[in-house]
Amino acid sequence: MNLEKYELAGDELEIVKYPDPVLSKKASEVTDFGPGLQKLVKDMLFTMYHAPGIGLAAPQVGQSLRLFVLDVEYDREEMTNSRGEDDWKLSNFNPKVFINPVLTGNSGTTTYEEGCLSVPGVYEEVKRYQAVHVKYQNLKGEFEEMEADDMLSICIQHENDHLEGIVFIERLSNLKKNFYKKKMAKEKAAR
Ligand SMILES: [Zn+2]
Repeated sequence: MNLEKYELAGDELEIVKYPDPVLSKKASEVTDFGPGLQKLVKDMLFTMYHAPGIGLAAPQVGQSLRLFVLDVEYDREEMTNSRGEDDWKLSNFNPKVFINPVLTGNSGTTTYEEGCLSVPGVYEEVKRYQAVHVKYQNLKGEFEEMEADDMLSICIQHENDHLEGIVFIERLSNLKKNFYKKKMAKEKAAR
């Protein structure tokens, strides 16, 4: 992966797949803003870009903590690397980090075909709020808030669900939910 312009390079973490129990657990508040947290965020961003995905919550890397990273703006271009393999060229990074987020307001509704790095190969339309207001802490532990709409809003709601132990397939109709639950359980048994 071409990371020339990406200054936050870290280590790639293993992404936990549904139905791992950590994905169904309510995550704990972040209280320690020390070097361990800084490293975790760097590694989560690296892992997200490497996947490549637009959002990643701490439970997805096996850490049951209330934090997620996202970037709904960066550009991805398919390319061939120096070893002749298919790869991605990434640019225009705009990483965002949300620690101990709380959704404090919402308006409108929208639907979007969502996917999840923990549920590979599944893409389904999910109904969400069109806009949300979110309060959170940054990497220094300072309190911030923002109004988000469209993709950013959808991504924040998807990632925030992970902190509540909710994977997006839980938000589908019972028929689809049961279908995917069985399918994922079978795939897990086969691994
Ligand atoms: Zn997800």
